[in-house]
Amino acid sequence: MSAPNIETIVSLAKRRGFVYPSSEIYGGLGSAWDYGPLGAELCNNVRAAWWRWMVHERDDIEGLDSSIILNRLVWKYSGHEETFNDPLVDCRECNGRFRADKLVQEWAQEETVKYGVQVVPIPLYSVLGKIKCPNCGKINWTDVRPFNLMFRTHVGATAEDDSDALVYLRPETAQGIFVNFLNVLNTSRRKLPFGVAQIGKSFRNEVTPGNFIFRTREFEQMEMEYFVRPGKDEQAHQEWIDACRQWFLDIGISPDNLRLYEQPKEELAHYAKRTVDIQYRFFPEREDEERHWDELMGIANRTDFDLRTHSKKPEDAEGKRLNPDSTEDLSYFDEATKQRFYPYVIEPAAGVNRTVLALLMDAYSEKTNDKGEARVILKLHHSMAPIKVAVLPLAKNKPEIVGMAKAIKRSLQPLVRAVYDDTGGIGKLYARQDEIGTPFCVTVDHQSLEDEAVTVRDRDTWEQERVKVSDLPTYLLQRFSPGS
Ligand code: ATP
Repeated sequence: MSAPNIETIVSLAKRRGFVYPSSEIYGGLGSAWDYGPLGAELCNNVRAAWWRWMVHERDDIEGLDSSIILNRLVWKYSGHEETFNDPLVDCRECNGRFRADKLVQEWAQEETVKYGVQVVPIPLYSVLGKIKCPNCGKINWTDVRPFNLMFRTHVGATAEDDSDALVYLRPETAQGIFVNFLNVLNTSRRKLPFGVAQIGKSFRNEVTPGNFIFRTREFEQMEMEYFVRPGKDEQAHQEWIDACRQWFLDIGISPDNLRLYEQPKEELAHYAKRTVDIQYRFFPEREDEERHWDELMGIANRTDFDLRTHSKKPEDAEGKRLNPDSTEDLSYFDEATKQRFYPYVIEPAAGVNRTVLALLMDAYSEKTNDKGEARVILKLHHSMAPIKVAVLPLAKNKPEIVGMAKAIKRSLQPLVRAVYDDTGGIGKLYARQDEIGTPFCVTVDHQSLEDEAVTVRDRDTWEQERVKVSDLPTYLLQRFSPGS
């Protein structure tokens, strides 16, 4: 079982302290979210698992943490200033503003289902005249125009309109890696193939943010740029597609809710040779099965576009430098073959926030207890659970029991994230821990004072086992799934 829709997760997330609407006491800020005590832990677990898998457990990847604000020229030569646009369209009747490509995409999906054949409008926006405004139901659109998604700001104490001071908040972490290619290559003395990984915030002034933390204007990416010899790119790309899918399975996402989506030629970014998205079933409530899915991660073959475009060397047919601003050539010299070339790049790019959403949706389940009451259990993979063990006293008015429970919590602290909770009756405490995905509850009762043993309760089966306090750390470590 997984969550029937995102709304179920929104209310659980707020109720239990995973995610809150941002700046709520001032009326909020459209589609900005803050991560509460449990959400912060869950995000950390996602980042840590990705970093361990991507950097520590491999021999060919280095880590990096580049600036959010880069020289504006980075975004000029990456193509973002010119092409990082969404097509905007306004409804003249209700002033609603939409992404024209999304309107057409949804229309085409509905038509495809209706007629049983793939409907692809050419040119893309020619069908807008048939599409009703999702707000008011009328058809009266403005022309489609490009809207650049990069947030602008200014560095230093300069005037607002000083174009020399204009900078952007990065819309992806990838460019910080490309402009550091030579630094990492020279300091780590790597040979191809090798990769550089980075986790960090990115910013996009999305036209239509929404669906909780699925699409926000500030979000976090986990990206890795894998540099390979041209000709070896296709095989490396396929290997990364398979490895990334496996990673999502390893952190507990069900294979039934994951699928690979091969981007058709007309969807490909201008630099990409092939892109495969890993999609998650974020919208299971939608009638049409095709519309259940949306992107969790993209894995692109970016060719040699990035290193070439940031290099000072390449020239056009008349011998004019394509990039007159760069001071370096980002080509690679292969000692073995004595060849110089621009490496190809394979880029697995995932979102921390979408991964968190997928984990919460996937882990959601309900179970009925002996009294016939429905209980929510968040069956998170142990490695993702914000809290691994909750230590609970059966009687909070018994100082010996409370003291023993607190001492056990402190003894577990160096090993795992453990908490102590005495804010309710035991049934309520179990229910609360189930709902936030804590794999094990340890209960200290009257008998514990005599036999130095506690009850360990399993979140998923509700089975209980008596364990000696001295054996508890070893017992728990054995029960945790690998990677926890
Ligand atoms: P989409 O098509 O959904 O806008 P994208 O293809 O533009 O996404 P990429 O540029 O490939 O996204 O970014 C890599 C990953 O970053 C995405 O797979 C997603 O997990 C995450 N991501 C991108 N945009 C957002 C956003 N606005 N909010 C949250 N996560 C995002």
